[in-house]
Amino acid sequence: MKIVSVQKNSPADLSGICVDDVVLAINGHNISDVLDYRFYSTAEKLTITLQNRTIKLEKDAYQDLGITFETYLMDEKKNCRNNCIFCFIDQMPKGLRDTLYFKDDDARLSFLQGNYITLTNLSDRDVERIIKMNLSVNVSVHTTNPELRHAMLNNRFAGKTLSYLFKIARAKIALNCQIVLCKGWNDGKELLNTLRDLTVYKSIESIAVVPVGLTKFREGLTSLDVFTKQDAIDVVKLTQKFDRVYAADEFYLLAELPIPEDNYYNNYPQYENGVGMLRYHIEQFEDGTGLDDELCKAKNISIATGVAAYDTISALALKLQRKTKINFTVFKIKNRFFGETITVAGLLTATDIIDQLKGKQLGEYLLLTKYMLNSDGLFLDNLSVADVEQELGVKVKVQEFL
Ligand code: SF4
Repeated sequence: MKIVSVQKNSPADLSGICVDDVVLAINGHNISDVLDYRFYSTAEKLTITLQNRTIKLEKDAYQDLGITFETYLMDEKKNCRNNCIFCFIDQMPKGLRDTLYFKDDDARLSFLQGNYITLTNLSDRDVERIIKMNLSVNVSVHTTNPELRHAMLNNRFAGKTLSYLFKIARAKIALNCQIVLCKGWNDGKELLNTLRDLTVYKSIESIAVVPVGLTKFREGLTSLDVFTKQDAIDVVKLTQKFDRVYAADEFYLLAELPIPEDNYYNNYPQYENGVGMLRYHIEQFEDGTGLDDELCKAKNISIATGVAAYDTISALALKLQRKTKINFTVFKIKNRFFGETITVAGLLTATDIIDQLKGKQLGEYLLLTKYMLNSDGLFLDNLSVADVEQELGVKVKVQEFL
């Protein structure tokens, strides 16, 4: 992989490594991707084999060499080889931005960015490398029943590759697991067995149980049912019997059970999975860190959120109102884009927000959660915050804790 930039005065720069050089090996180890590069470049003394010369250099252990490569992974992204019955990507309408349709299942991205992987496209060598490099991984387990996993992932290797999970766990590599729960498939007794199998391993640091997301675009896909309130109560009660197992906030909301306290979540290992997010936001708002100085001076503020978190956000807004004298109005936005069974705020589109808030009194600011936006500041329907501001005639503030 070609070097595209060398930081001035970095170890690479000082030893004569240049843009367009190609790193072939470090200390005799072939470099095939970013993990090899990061792992072998941590040493103090390096012998770097380039395409046309060899460079020897010394630096501090773990000091960055100061080079960037053509692509982040220094390799192609690995896509998934499954056809899961619950795949959200299969349930998206056509015409959204291309990146939303990419089905990645790449162990490198699991280590570097926390993506969840199914292990179905790993080789024995990949697993050995995970263990050798002590790479923590996030695994989409779904079930530890091999036949059921095969059926749910529609991949004949899905059951067999559970052995990789147990091998990694036995090697004491830190793991976080997720179970996407599908009614009548991996819930009930199957879930109980899965949790029993997984919690045996202390290296499995957390297990999130999240409900399947079902959009209105499921034509031709396996028929799946939505969870009822009683189903959600059963799931929450079951997860609470196990250490390190957490039901997603969505289950608590559907079950109408109180969101557990801060200490229950044990530093929120599954925050990005929608586990404990509400509790964390409540804590942040209650200690006053939720509003910046500009917002504190406002008289009227509106908040747009999804159906699921509406009651919690409303209660929070009421508390804040009493504390700050700001008048809050919380709006419940229905997800017409994906269908009303999708209730989380993070999957709301700008179009739904605009359509449902047009003509409403929104005050000086409209607050939205940052989880509605990608890293380019775009909603799922490619509209931006500026588009929402223009359409609704209000200043939008994107909030982390909402
Ligand atoms: S692993 Fe399953 S859920 Fe994930 S992208 Fe692939 S098919 Fe979809």
